[in-house]
Amino acid sequence: MIDFDLSPAAKGAKSMIHMFAENAVRPIARQYDENEHEKPWDLLKMVQSFMKGGLGGSGVTGGAPKKEKEGEGKPKKRETNILTAVTVEEIFWGDAGIALAFPGGGLGGAAVQASGTPEQKEKFLARFGGDEAVWGAMAITEPEAGSDTASLRTTAVLDGDEWVLNGEKIFVTSGKSAMEDSPGFVVVWATIDRSAGRAGIKPFIVEQGTPGVQITKIEDKMGIRASDTVSLSFMDCRIPKDNILGSAEVMDKTKTEGFKKVMATFDATRPLVAAMAAGVGRAALDFVKEKLAEEGVELRYGISTNRMTAIERDIMQMECDLKAARLLNWRACWMLDNGMRNNLEASMAKAKAGLAVTRTTQKAVEMMGPLGYSRKYLLEKWMRDAKINDIFEGTGQIQMLITARRILDFSRDQLK
Ligand SMILES: Cc1cc2nc3c(=O)[nH]c(=O)nc-3n(C[C@H](O)[C@H](O)[C@H](O)COP(=O)(O)OP(=O)(O)OC[C@H]3O[C@@H](n4cnc5c(N)ncnc54)[C@H](O)[C@@H]3O)c2cc1C
Repeated sequence: MIDFDLSPAAKGAKSMIHMFAENAVRPIARQYDENEHEKPWDLLKMVQSFMKGGLGGSGVTGGAPKKEKEGEGKPKKRETNILTAVTVEEIFWGDAGIALAFPGGGLGGAAVQASGTPEQKEKFLARFGGDEAVWGAMAITEPEAGSDTASLRTTAVLDGDEWVLNGEKIFVTSGKSAMEDSPGFVVVWATIDRSAGRAGIKPFIVEQGTPGVQITKIEDKMGIRASDTVSLSFMDCRIPKDNILGSAEVMDKTKTEGFKKVMATFDATRPLVAAMAAGVGRAALDFVKEKLAEEGVELRYGISTNRMTAIERDIMQMECDLKAARLLNWRACWMLDNGMRNNLEASMAKAKAGLAVTRTTQKAVEMMGPLGYSRKYLLEKWMRDAKINDIFEGTGQIQMLITARRILDFSRDQLK
């Protein structure tokens, strides 16, 4: 049965991370929003030392996997993902851009974790647990392929003991951090057989310093500006044969089991995005409630809706949306922690959270009027930071499509 009461370990982690977010992250949020391509190195080094001390794991920072010991004060294995969702929400309450810039494996690390061999995990994930801040990234999106991953054009051709990659990737989160600022890696999706469609698509690990990879663009963005997003070009980029994640065989062009396995990476990462969204939404809601309290506006909980003021109704709606998103997400995390396939629930949680944070932050700006629009406060920034949750790791529309397919038991071809 799902228990919605957080364990003492999760409550402890939540309050500790909240303190950190409030005192170390929130105060520098504006500075790194204004100076888009700078990194808060002092903070990042502090985060790295936390990770080394055991706070990292495979959460927002996507650090090296840790063997969890059951026992006093240690979280039990079955709540790893819930614990991650709870702590991610707190850090993103502090600031989304800075939190996304934290060192760790990110999506690339999650892909290695989900479909790497024990040797690959040892080789590529161990680097996140040391003294140095290191980043991982994942490159799927191309100018001609986003939601429709099957149409990606980057190719990988086996030549002796090496794969040769050619193509272009865009919007790679932490791509600069992984490929320029640290000895990191990027997991690149490429096709080994275009005629095989999805069955031919495989992920490859490209390490920093590999000849033939180039950062061709650093994005200027609306929100999450402390996090770097880049375009990467691969020109005859040679990587070792063993750097493929999963099997290199395309046994049956109608079977996409390998592709589905890699897509399962998102079952673990979509709940992370939902938690990020909940954090940003709660930041906006807390701000509005604080300002209303300063003005002496009292919110009457528990009265019937026809007696509520418009402000009360709006606040209750925002709370309700965020709570629904959080609970859906905890359910997705709980399933993952208990070894269940959560593909449907992860997509539902992400779709709901992306919508909830977009609506909540926009409503908050609307309710605050000029205070919401002014750069004196962070509210306008949270509205900008919110939207990405409805775009990356599959847009809101795509999450709803996946949800509908799963509920109706329709195939990809039956419901496009
Ligand atoms: C800041 C940022 C960071 C990112 N980080 C990464 C990263 O680290 N790695 C990576 O690989 N990518 C990353 N992306 C890319 C992101 O995942 C894609 O932008 C996203 O998947 C949408 O793909 P697209 O841009 O090709 O848009 P499209 O697929 O062209 O979509 C455009 C619009 O059409 C809608 N749409 C598309 N297909 C359908 C359909 N079948 N039914 C209904 N609506 C549909 C979409 O929902 C969207 O609203 C990032 C993007 C941004 C902005």
